[in-house]
Amino acid sequence: THDPKRRVLKDVFGFDDFRPGQASVMEALLAGRHVLAVMPTGAGKSLCYQVPALVKGGLTIVVSPLVALMQDQVAALRLAGVAADTINSSIDRDANVAAWRRVASGQTRLLYLAPERLMTERMLDALARLDVRLIAIDEAHCISQWGPAFRREYEDLAQLRGIFPDVPIIAVTATADETTRADIETRLFGGRVETQVLGFDRPNIKLAIEPKQDSKRQLLNFIERHQGRSGIVYCLSRKKTEEMAAFLEKNGVTALAYHAGMSKEARDANQNAFMTLSGVVMVATIAFGMGIDKPDVAYVFHTDLPGSLEAYYQEIGRAGRDGRAAEAHMLYGLGDIRMRRMFIEDEDAAAEHKRRSHVRLDTLIGYCETAECRRQVLLGYFGEEATPCGNCDNCLEQAPRADGTAEARLILAA
Ligand code: ADP
Ligand code: MG
Ligand code: ZN
Repeated sequence: THDPKRRVLKDVFGFDDFRPGQASVMEALLAGRHVLAVMPTGAGKSLCYQVPALVKGGLTIVVSPLVALMQDQVAALRLAGVAADTINSSIDRDANVAAWRRVASGQTRLLYLAPERLMTERMLDALARLDVRLIAIDEAHCISQWGPAFRREYEDLAQLRGIFPDVPIIAVTATADETTRADIETRLFGGRVETQVLGFDRPNIKLAIEPKQDSKRQLLNFIERHQGRSGIVYCLSRKKTEEMAAFLEKNGVTALAYHAGMSKEARDANQNAFMTLSGVVMVATIAFGMGIDKPDVAYVFHTDLPGSLEAYYQEIGRAGRDGRAAEAHMLYGLGDIRMRRMFIEDEDAAAEHKRRSHVRLDTLIGYCETAECRRQVLLGYFGEEATPCGNCDNCLEQAPRADGTAEARLILAA
């Protein structure tokens, strides 16, 4: 192949094809433009800068917030035969000195640094004398004050575009809400950036929302349609996860609870059972799910309103990873909205923060109450355009009815 990035993909990383979005991000970088890439977790954001780093040659600086993440990436790159280094506080002085020698002598292709380490005058001076050709900022949402993961040290990264005016900068994140994105665009790039938002659609997950009436019954009815399949049920409170799990058990469903108030042993045992057996229903608070990669989860059922549209998206994304038909089903009631509003008001936070939390909640309510295609609304929020999906309750209800009697009965009963 004559495409140098494809050659690196194959020869260095051993992959035959790009994942959705990767190639166009790389092309923009290789053409010298700044890029903000918003892609879901697991989409392959690292390769978006690692491949261009090797195509360009010279030195690429990678900023990452956690030492553990840096070390994982450096180890993985070295396994692939790439000269990668990190200089950080968790390794001893000699190792840091040796790493710097490799960087200074031009051997190192990718240098991983924490932001506070990079943004010292000494480091910047030293790097300015080297052949820096690309700068990558991982977990870029950490720069946003309004995001949940703000890090003071990320703020200084705003100076990078001034210090290295000829070097393209790529920022990557999985956090896609509009405020955070706009914040990254202004702070890191002064607005001069090509933003690419990609790959959020999960077309095999059917989206549906049902008015909340009798949660227990509604849940049981739903689960009976998925007998023998694994599923996740999210509840707002710890107590409710236990009540729901007990109710399901009483009705012949294998259900386990999971929440942060349980002992670590009990949590691990339940998680293990869910992961290794099939047909277990996990009734959990949001404490459950981070890093859970079970391909055959048939559904995610929300008995209560989630915290935000991002949270909802992440939570339902645990269904249908095997690509088979899966469902995201939510119960939605006015009481939930009141509860969420109260949570926000009771939070010990600045007025501006609360205002933004209310806006986020309104966005979620808008999704719940829309009569349009839900997937269109959901993807639209993440900046993706879509046509009506045919796989959400609103799309399916608009399909011609075989028989109007159910509807007629409702109208007459009113
Ligand atoms: P992210 O940072 O977006 O969450 P990673 O960069 O950690 O994702 O990549 C997730 C996984 O996907 C890694 O194991 C990586 O090797 C793999 N991956 C990335 N790109 C490709 C590709 N083009 N083909 C196959 N696997 C890929
Ligand atoms: Mg990543
Ligand atoms: Zn739809």
